[in-house]
Amino acid sequence: MRPMSHRGTFADQPVAFGRSALGSRLEYFPAAERADLLVLAGIHGEEPDTTVVLSRALRSLAAPPRRAAVITAANPDGLARGTRGNANGVDLNRNFPTADWQPDPITHRWSLRHDSEVELSPGPAPCSEPETAALIGLIAELKPRHIISLHGHLDCIEDPGLSPFGRWAAERSGLPLVESVGYATPGSMGTWSAEQGIPILTWEFAPEAIESLFHTQLPVLIEILQGEFAAPLGAG
Ligand SMILES: [Zn+2]
Repeated sequence: MRPMSHRGTFADQPVAFGRSALGSRLEYFPAAERADLLVLAGIHGEEPDTTVVLSRALRSLAAPPRRAAVITAANPDGLARGTRGNANGVDLNRNFPTADWQPDPITHRWSLRHDSEVELSPGPAPCSEPETAALIGLIAELKPRHIISLHGHLDCIEDPGLSPFGRWAAERSGLPLVESVGYATPGSMGTWSAEQGIPILTWEFAPEAIESLFHTQLPVLIEILQGEFAAPLGAG
């Protein structure tokens, strides 16, 4: 672990893997050896706590993770503008080329306390957005065996296979493990990953303040980046 006083910056430099709709650099932090695991945050720009917590997890390590690659901001334009979608108004997590992708507007709730729904586009076509295409290209290159995608704030970990890794992560994070978030998510990264045969945990932080997440979620993510996932994965 790095001394606390050094955690303001990263131990290693990220690598570019594309450009966003507004031309922002898409970047990832490579694994030192092999990216058995890819952990990403901020595919929804209205969930900036995922970016901060994952960034802090990476900045807590003295050296790059041996077997995990990290994307702190999968949707940098959305994070900069505070929008769920990218600069084209597309929900990137409904823009993946899945069997169930559909062109109709998709909705999300304005807040957990309101039933009122907000519309976004899934894109004019599957994988129409540069952020989605770049992410798919990076996954094809890295060939991770597992993916973790951080979200908020449904307070659960979705793991359709209820895998040992999912059970371990749920126990360590205090989040309930569920087979499904309970509603259809056509074109989602979770569905796409499953179709590619890559197990994915859709890790939904609880609706709690970021200061609280530093205590409930950050320690688990540090353990995962340190390679603690190896045993639950059985990846050897
Ligand atoms: Zn989300």
